[in-house]
Amino acid sequence: MATRIIRKGISLAVRGLGSNMEGVDREVTLRTAYQNVAQKVFECTTANGRDKQDVELLPVSKLKPATDLEILYKHEGVRHFGENYVQELVGKAAVLPRDVKWHFIGSLQTNKCKQLARIENLYAVETVDSLQKAKKLAEARAKYCPEAEAIRCSIEINTSGEEQKAGLSEEADILEVVEFFLSGDSKHVILHGLMTIGSWDASHGEAEENKDFAKLVEWKKKLDSKYRLDLKLSMGMSADYAQAIKQGSNEIRVGVGIFGARPPRKA
Ligand SMILES: *Cc1c(COP(=O)(O)O)cnc(C)c1O
Repeated sequence: MATRIIRKGISLAVRGLGSNMEGVDREVTLRTAYQNVAQKVFECTTANGRDKQDVELLPVSKLKPATDLEILYKHEGVRHFGENYVQELVGKAAVLPRDVKWHFIGSLQTNKCKQLARIENLYAVETVDSLQKAKKLAEARAKYCPEAEAIRCSIEINTSGEEQKAGLSEEADILEVVEFFLSGDSKHVILHGLMTIGSWDASHGEAEENKDFAKLVEWKKKLDSKYRLDLKLSMGMSADYAQAIKQGSNEIRVGVGIFGARPPRKA
């Protein structure tokens, strides 16, 4: 598959569509990287005895141009993208097709919830880490786009205990947010799962198991049995997705592994 694309890239360039040489190169690079990751995810999923549809690959496109997303949309059939910055997401949502399903995976600020919830094709917010933010998302969705699909929310849990990481870690706080979603007070947000970013140490250590991922799995078990749920787990990034799949992840979020190194964020 990859060779076919590379040949196509070369032949397009040779045919004198050279004005867009860089675009052609980018298309080849990006599609090849995407296909490689997708293939590895597939192999890893089946090697662990899991079903293909149990693990989704979410390309994380933060700080990458909309043209990159367009390539994967057009040629690889990708519809789900993960973004970290509200302003950037608003801009991309305005220029890319309406059937893109946006996942917000960045650190969520209370005062940005409104802007986020107004994006009609916002599909998921994976970083809900307070009751207040959950409520803000629900209110804004109800007010500004009541006809849009409910936002699938995941509760971010700080599994590593690192201070600089977002996410809830106290049981009472977690239960409070879960219970808000389950109360049925809002049909504009639904509880989908749990999300975590493991520590660098846990994903680069010698241990057989990633202890941060294991902690998220523990939370799932606890909440699933208490409330009779089947929460989905979003864990694993470029460096540690194989391990995350092994430990039960349902969604891995891959940025650099697909799009390459990111430019620094401009202030
Ligand atoms: C940037 C980011 C990713 C992607 O990380 P890579 O190392 O580029 O794969 C995944 N999850 C979150 C929350 C991110 O902010």
